[in-house]
Amino acid sequence: GDLSQRVPVRSKDEIGRLAKQFNNMAERLQEMTRQLREFVANASHEMRTPLTSLNILVKSMREYPLEEEEREEFLEDIDQELERMIRLVESLLDLTRLDRLAAEDTVAMADLVPTVVNTLEMLKKKALEKEISLDYTVPEETAPVFAVLHQIKQVVFNLVDNAIKYTPAGGQVHVSLKQDPNWLVLTVADTGIGIPAEHREKVFERFYRVDKARSREAGGTGLGLSIVYEIVQRHGGQIFVEDNDDGIGSRFVVKLPLIPEAEAAQSVNKN
Ligand code: ADP
Repeated sequence: GDLSQRVPVRSKDEIGRLAKQFNNMAERLQEMTRQLREFVANASHEMRTPLTSLNILVKSMREYPLEEEEREEFLEDIDQELERMIRLVESLLDLTRLDRLAAEDTVAMADLVPTVVNTLEMLKKKALEKEISLDYTVPEETAPVFAVLHQIKQVVFNLVDNAIKYTPAGGQVHVSLKQDPNWLVLTVADTGIGIPAEHREKVFERFYRVDKARSREAGGTGLGLSIVYEIVQRHGGQIFVEDNDDGIGSRFVVKLPLIPEAEAAQSVNKN
């Protein structure tokens, strides 16, 4: 269908207002369609890269007789490309799940400390392997927020995973959870390569990378931060990135709204 159609607005009465609204909706639909097309084009392009590599690897293995050692190297490369594809498809699925209107995820009124700590413990080994110190400052407990816990887990995981990915060996990653009057504030700070100011807003877009080769090297999909952004939005929160202290590395700040006390009391009564 032709999405560029518009209705002429002739009057200021009800019909006029309706026509105007119709035109606004048509415009939004057109924009959404454009975004969807762009997304599908990007996703296909991202899939083509590992598939092309796999194709070449398998063909050359067939064509040339290989020593045992070379064979192992080829298999290692194939394994890596497959892993990349799997991560990409999983991230794409995560995004579509978030897009689904009727989310079957349960929203819990929860203290996020255990979720945050569990996720960090999961990542300790990864940090250690890269000789990066990962530590955190969290209170015993915090006031509750409305949250889908596995999504919050994903936010923490993606941010800390990135901090480890983009910080050279010997560096530090520090996570903190704090509470101010209205927000629960999670920060993930690293002493890594940092993000130049002109990229700071764009890194939350799907498939956007500051350095494509570097992201690829680190096994990135370019979707991690867009998933984080989407989840934070859905929780009524805010996210941004800034320089870490002394301008070395970056600090991601996530703010989630605390439940006003009156409302919290009401929710408890209802259950
Ligand atoms: P990727 O899979 O490429 O890491 P993300 O969506 O998670 O994709 O991040 C987008 C880009 O933002 C990355 O490619 C990288 O350029 C930049 N980035 C994300 N986190 C950090 C960080 N902690 N330090 C420096 N750059 C980062």
